[in-house]
Amino acid sequence: MLPWAFAPLPLGSIRPLGWLRGELQALGSGLAGHEFEFLPYVKDSRWLGGGSDYSGLNEALPYWFNGLVPLAYTLDDERLKGQVHAVAAEVLRRQASDGWLGPETGDERNFWGRVPFLLGLTQLAEANVTGWKGTIVHGLVKYLRLVDVMLRDGGQGYTQCRWNPNDCSWGQVRVHDFISVIQWLLENTKLDDRDEEMLWNTMDRLYRWSKFKWEDWYTEGRYQKVVSDATPGNPEFPYLHGVNVGQGESRCPQTRSLALLTFPLGLKASAVIRRFDHRQSLVRSTWNAVDWTFKHHGTSSGTIFADEVQRDLAPFMGAELCTAVETGYSLAYLYHALGNSLFADRAELVIFNAFPVSLTSDAWGHQYMARSNGPWALRQPHQRSLFTTASSVSTIFGLEPMYPCCTVNFPQGWPKFIAHSWARADTGLVHALLSPSVVNTTIPHRGRVVIECKTDYPFSNQLMYTISAESDIDLFLRFPSWAVQSESSVSLSIPGESGSASKQTIQADAETGLHRVSIPRGKSTVVYTVASVIRVESRPYDAVSVYRGNVLYSLDVGQSMTSSLPHRHWDQDGDGTHEFDQFEKCRDFYFNHTKPVSLIRYRGYG
Ligand SMILES: [Zn+2]
Repeated sequence: MLPWAFAPLPLGSIRPLGWLRGELQALGSGLAGHEFEFLPYVKDSRWLGGGSDYSGLNEALPYWFNGLVPLAYTLDDERLKGQVHAVAAEVLRRQASDGWLGPETGDERNFWGRVPFLLGLTQLAEANVTGWKGTIVHGLVKYLRLVDVMLRDGGQGYTQCRWNPNDCSWGQVRVHDFISVIQWLLENTKLDDRDEEMLWNTMDRLYRWSKFKWEDWYTEGRYQKVVSDATPGNPEFPYLHGVNVGQGESRCPQTRSLALLTFPLGLKASAVIRRFDHRQSLVRSTWNAVDWTFKHHGTSSGTIFADEVQRDLAPFMGAELCTAVETGYSLAYLYHALGNSLFADRAELVIFNAFPVSLTSDAWGHQYMARSNGPWALRQPHQRSLFTTASSVSTIFGLEPMYPCCTVNFPQGWPKFIAHSWARADTGLVHALLSPSVVNTTIPHRGRVVIECKTDYPFSNQLMYTISAESDIDLFLRFPSWAVQSESSVSLSIPGESGSASKQTIQADAETGLHRVSIPRGKSTVVYTVASVIRVESRPYDAVSVYRGNVLYSLDVGQSMTSSLPHRHWDQDGDGTHEFDQFEKCRDFYFNHTKPVSLIRYRGYG
């Protein structure tokens, strides 16, 4: 396996501080932290013996689990840990004798819905080695032995999905996330030779047998820079749109698409595959993916225009909340895998801007779709939707505005960002995604290191590090591409040493963006100043976006808020439901601007 540019740290090594801790606590005390208690897709999931899910793919509980495990362990919250432990134990207890995980039997078996759950299991095994790793690895290997049998039996559950042939597309177009779970097993566990060989063969089969090769899609002449036909009739439909999975017991009337999650997942596809097949051309494919996606479909807030179908650059269009969290995760993964700073810059941009703007401040309400230029968020059932498929409720803040995937998938936003914010280099630690946090880990041959970073970044320019190291290490600080080198600096102070702090000018590596600071064993402090200026970027239709660092400015036009009972996604035009009345904060919220927005003129900066 090709090594990481910067190796990820085990979940739980990094804890947020300051404003970031507040954001994470809001998730824990808001909707995300209470879904287990009342949301039918979680509480009464088919995975747990109940009868609820929003589609026959049975992906709701897996999405929730994938976000709640890092939320629980990053917050170190016993209540939330209890939720994920209970679910992990029940799902593994229900594992079929042949190894299948999940509620499906016979022809219903389909690999896709398991993938987010497997990602959650690997995180739990990292965060709680003594309590969970052995049980989880046993369950994963048992499941993968069955996958091996099913693949050799004509690709059952992967290329042959007899229950619904279309559903095979989901597992294939997102197969790299499944492959990343297998890579985790190979890198983090000791397996016998036969299982190890089986896992390598499984990775190879999964990749080769997928109809969807993202490296083929991200090529000149094939990639659609302008999506002219945003319908299932488009011959490139699987990369642009999706299959109708409103089957089984789902009552969702809309066409559900692959597009929303596959774009951001596709960003990292080639980098995942490259780790085991070593093709250098996959690096170029990754760059094409990121460059073209954001150039032709990117929003000013760092996410991707995609209202069910990927759209172009119209400023009134929107982007789904799932897209923001998956984009943030994929870009953070790319920085760890390939080590180019531009991926990290983009990971910060989307998580600092596109993600939080879709949540109410107490994190009880979320949007399905956010628009950078949407001055209101209203339910407008009698108005024609502006969007391709998203309905007129898709911009309100609520329990499940439009499709409920976001309800169970959004909790991973902050936790995955924090989990990727530090990484390990050969000689020390990398502060990859700048933010307030404390990291506590062991570096091979160098011992334990604890580094606390206090900062209001990205709302301030200064980061203050307090370091305790058992031996000499390197601290690598990422210098963002937008920062002003001549006004930025690093100062190192060692308690007890006479003289002032040693001040360094920034000498960041051109590719990684990293400035190296040699840290002696013992205690020391570092002050890192990342100077920024206000900058203006041109957008289509004569629009501009205004940034300071990685923060996008918005215009306060004032607002009034009203609320109603929460609406289920299949009853958007009704009066709402009383079924969740015990959670009084579970409401739908509507925002209207209170001042007319007149013509705004930009008069420059300086
Ligand atoms: Zn979603």
